[in-house]
Amino acid sequence: MKIQEILTQAESMCKQENIAEHPARILLMDVLNLESYQLYAKLEEDMAEDKKTEYFQKLTRYTKGNEPIQYIIGYEYFAGRNLIVGPKALIPRPETEELVHEVLFLLDDFFSEEAGYQTIDVVDIGTGSGAIAVSIAAEEPRTRVIATDISQDALEVTKANTEKFNLNIELLQGDMVKPVIAAGKKVDVLLANPPYIPKREYVQSIVKDNEPNIALFGGEDGLQFYREILMDAHKILMPKYLLAFEIGYDQAERLSAFARTQFPSATIYIKKDMQQKDRMLFIHNF
Ligand code: SAM
Ligand code: GLN
Repeated sequence: MKIQEILTQAESMCKQENIAEHPARILLMDVLNLESYQLYAKLEEDMAEDKKTEYFQKLTRYTKGNEPIQYIIGYEYFAGRNLIVGPKALIPRPETEELVHEVLFLLDDFFSEEAGYQTIDVVDIGTGSGAIAVSIAAEEPRTRVIATDISQDALEVTKANTEKFNLNIELLQGDMVKPVIAAGKKVDVLLANPPYIPKREYVQSIVKDNEPNIALFGGEDGLQFYREILMDAHKILMPKYLLAFEIGYDQAERLSAFARTQFPSATIYIKKDMQQKDRMLFIHNF
């Protein structure tokens, strides 16, 4: 069978199940070890029988087994890097890439070498795969990054990624800001994409049944972890600071109001993501 025919068949299997078709193509590229442009060039070629078997076996885990394609192939691209992912940690999302890009701009603005910052101390709370921590550490060599998570499982994935990219990131296990306080560390920058889905909110089964639920739910109203971080943050912040959070699309007003109670004289603002949804909260005193 030609590669094109296999792809068409795979896509119609997805259609039948009413699930996204794009993963069929991602998986095909993975099994054939081809980049997107190479796949296009080979669509008319025959697919080896063993590859075809492997492909449909893995595809069925997605179409019938409801498994995310990223867990099947074992990686996800995040901010230009191929990160290791697995069921022990949340799959990094595109919205979070936007947070990383904003933060990199702000590091240049606020923590320039001219302003005396030879190094920038950063913590990523609830690091999961390490998506945020790894991206920041790799893109801004002046940073010294700490990454925390309460989940030892998640930290195994973080560790695999710090090793993959040869980054010297300090890993701390514990509840939100607490392990950072315990280690006596102070930081210039606090970053977090905490679990923020309200406890009773509907979550697609492919997410809820596969990704660690500890990475998803943020208490009754979804805001529990932001409140904890914002109340404790002062204990680990340097006099000049930046905090940046990913937030749920409908949490901007409530979170800005709460942030104001903890940071009465700071600059507090929200940014939208590419879907025009409120997605990021920034707090700083520059
Ligand atoms: N930072 C990663 C990202 O952006 O892809 C993962 C974000 S995920 C939404 C939230 C993370 O917070 C999970 O890795 C979860 O294990 C961690 N977490 C949940 N409760 C926590 C707690 N009480 N203290 C520290 N981390 C926690
Ligand atoms: N964006 C994730 C989802 O919708 C949730 C991320 C989070 O809770 N921080 O599955």
